[in-house]
Amino acid sequence: MKAVVYPKPDVITVRDDLPVPRPKPGEALVKIKSSTICGTDLKILGGKFPGVKYPHIPGHEWSGEIVELGQNVLRLKVGDRVGEEPHVGCGSCQRCLEGLYNLCLNYGKLESGHQHIGFTVNGGLAEYCACSAKALHKLPDSLSYDEGAFTESVGVALYALERAQIQPGDNVAILGPGAIGLIALQIAKRAKGASKVVLIGTREERLSLGKKLGADETLNALEEREGVVKKAREILHNGEVGFDVVAEFAGSEEAARDALLLARRGGRIVLSGSTSPGKNLTVDISTIVRGHLNVFGSLANPMGICSKGLWLLAQGLVDVKPLMGGNYKLDDFEEALEAYKNRIGGAYRVMIHP
Ligand SMILES: [Zn+2]
Ligand SMILES: [Zn+2]
Repeated sequence: MKAVVYPKPDVITVRDDLPVPRPKPGEALVKIKSSTICGTDLKILGGKFPGVKYPHIPGHEWSGEIVELGQNVLRLKVGDRVGEEPHVGCGSCQRCLEGLYNLCLNYGKLESGHQHIGFTVNGGLAEYCACSAKALHKLPDSLSYDEGAFTESVGVALYALERAQIQPGDNVAILGPGAIGLIALQIAKRAKGASKVVLIGTREERLSLGKKLGADETLNALEEREGVVKKAREILHNGEVGFDVVAEFAGSEEAARDALLLARRGGRIVLSGSTSPGKNLTVDISTIVRGHLNVFGSLANPMGICSKGLWLLAQGLVDVKPLMGGNYKLDDFEEALEAYKNRIGGAYRVMIHP
């Protein structure tokens, strides 16, 4: 089969001499129909993601059709159209038993049954991928494979908002209008009944797409560098009070600090963007104590969140089509990666069709 292979960090090859993998017990073999890449793929390519062993087939956001099942897979059948989420817990450690398989204590230990697809095991930038059936969610009939490739992204956005206990009528600020932020905006506004949603970012074209997707107001943090918090609070017409929920997907120190400052007293903040170490939060601690703030971190998603996300897509409550850019083959992977990196044509996600 054909696949993108990183033989070592910073080297990309496309090979067509690889054997089609066979599904082990509990696994399914999927013929990949649509696969995409996100910022984490750049870290994997650069050798900056611990746990990745080279040579490596990347790809952790994809969809496809099941063509073969290993033993003991009861929930799925050959011919099922599925979307994939990358985290598969071992199923028996304390966190997995609590349902938090995204925090599995046996991360990277393949013998435990743990898989992080496209990270610690081969992924879906290939014609076929054999992976744990636990990672696969049946796609509603109305969804395309391209929409199915957003299974993980929708799950990540939905879980972050659920971490922040979003309620109908909440005023919500979202920082970072990338793919996840723009999905979160739609979930907040259309599915969770948010009152006012203010989207904050640094790229005008992304903010204007956010407006089309339902943001009540947008703010460019570069233009408002001095007063983005003040300005955002003014938008609520309650300058002193602030937002009930603030969700950060930007991954910068500034955005995380602003997130804390934007919340009302007793408000809920979820920080989700900075998944790698090296960034520091400088904020007066009394902001949290006197602000009586609830600060949550959110990493990926557990507990069947992705299938709920697919339902939101199927109901039309979340539209990911405006986030799709390009249409590439595996052979064009380097071109697709460049298009993603340099945001050619405003691409949020590039769609790769093996
Ligand atoms: Zn990703
Ligand atoms: Zn576990």
